[in-house]
Amino acid sequence: MNEDLVRFLKTRLDEEADLARRCDGDGCGEWSAHGHTVDFCQADLAGFHPTIALHVALHDPARVLREIEAKRRILARHALSPAVGDPELPWDDRNDCQFDGDPWPCDDLIDIASPYTDHPDFPGRS
Ligand SMILES: [Zn+2]
Repeated sequence: MNEDLVRFLKTRLDEEADLARRCDGDGCGEWSAHGHTVDFCQADLAGFHPTIALHVALHDPARVLREIEAKRRILARHALSPAVGDPELPWDDRNDCQFDGDPWPCDDLIDIASPYTDHPDFPGRS
């Protein structure tokens, strides 16, 4: 895993942000639910179970983009602090996370990656 995991995550976040921006092409990025109907701003679609309508609306492009930006900030904080070349050598001479000092990739990165374990490009899958 290691740096492959971060590269993989950045690619997924770029793909998802691109898709969200394409859905928000005319500024209609905030969706809402009203009973069995989802208001996609450009059009209403009816026929959803009300709970599913709420779930769909919860994933509007504006919210998805905010979530992606939050994940990018987390990735930036939890960067690799390599054992090699570090003047203050990490304990145990191991690669660790610059934010929490845990072995890298740390649990926070692994948690961010966890929804993608079924992706064909997930590091370590073959
Ligand atoms: Zn970390």
